Amino acid sequence: MAKIVFLGLGVMGYPMAGHLAGAGHDVTVYNRTTKKAEKWVAEHGGSYAKNPADAAAEADFVFSCVGDDPDVLAVALNEKGAIAAMKPGSIYVDNSTVSADVASQIYAAGKLRSVGVLDAPVSGGQAGAENGTLTVMVGGDQAVFDTALPVMECYGARVVRMGNAGKGQQAKMCNQICIAGLVQGLSEALNFAVAADLDTDALLEAISGGAAQSWQMVNRGHTMVNNEFDFGFAVDWMRKDLRICLEEATRHDAPLPVTKIVAGYYDELSQMGHGRNDTSSLIRRLRGS
Ligand code: NAP
Repeated sequence: MAKIVFLGLGVMGYPMAGHLAGAGHDVTVYNRTTKKAEKWVAEHGGSYAKNPADAAAEADFVFSCVGDDPDVLAVALNEKGAIAAMKPGSIYVDNSTVSADVASQIYAAGKLRSVGVLDAPVSGGQAGAENGTLTVMVGGDQAVFDTALPVMECYGARVVRMGNAGKGQQAKMCNQICIAGLVQGLSEALNFAVAADLDTDALLEAISGGAAQSWQMVNRGHTMVNNEFDFGFAVDWMRKDLRICLEEATRHDAPLPVTKIVAGYYDELSQMGHGRNDTSSLIRRLRGS
């Protein structure tokens, strides 16, 4: 069993760290707001640290699941960040969704200290984190991936190496590009169904078995009809993800016309005060509320 540190006990990190502890690993957690770390330790055992560096010195693996680029840089590379404190041969796994550029920066900083670094963003949402069934898209060296794989499988049902550093983040961008257009299409269909006075239960039963089927339709169709959005993957996180996609796509000269439009719709939703709503709340724009 390994000595593991987990940085960031949010909606995703809290249960992911719980699965690592549940598998028998010796887990130390760090959270910027200490209260959450105290709660986690009361629930799962282990211990908590005051900053990432204090926690990381003895660790075999350090995981992070925080927010945007500056947040990962803060816990990984700042003065009290983990990388500078980690021992040679240990491994840093970042599960946050951030830019491929930041993934490469952390990889390079690790390389200088013989610390393996993987960018390993996840998909599957809060439910996937709680059930330990996340999809994990990984960038980094093959040997480092092979060592970390059994540990990542504590919270991931599907863990796929995509290539070198940054490729995990690029794969996650593809995931978000797919979702953006899809949720807008689903919103339009369901808004149309209500306007046309269709039986939406019957509709979802019928078309979720056909070619239009999607995870969003199966898991969000009914809640969209019922105007329930107080859960799931926040609009403001999606805005961050689509910003990252659009910046990366510009670098590769790959147009994302629909993604760009939907990113603007999510900005509108955030301005309407719905930034913490689930991403399926795109349908609210069509309803005007
Ligand atoms: P969250 O609930 O808002 O939690 C964010 C965590 O990061 C908190 O523990 C927060 O600490 C910490 N944090 C943020 N900025 C920090 C900083 N500068 N320094 C130190 N700690 C910092 O977010 P989440 O939903 O768990 O998402 C985490 C990551 O996973 C994001 O990159 C997100 O895009 C990605 N993701 C989320 C989902 C989802 O469904 N939620 C799905 C896939 C991927 P405090 O407690 O002190 O605020």
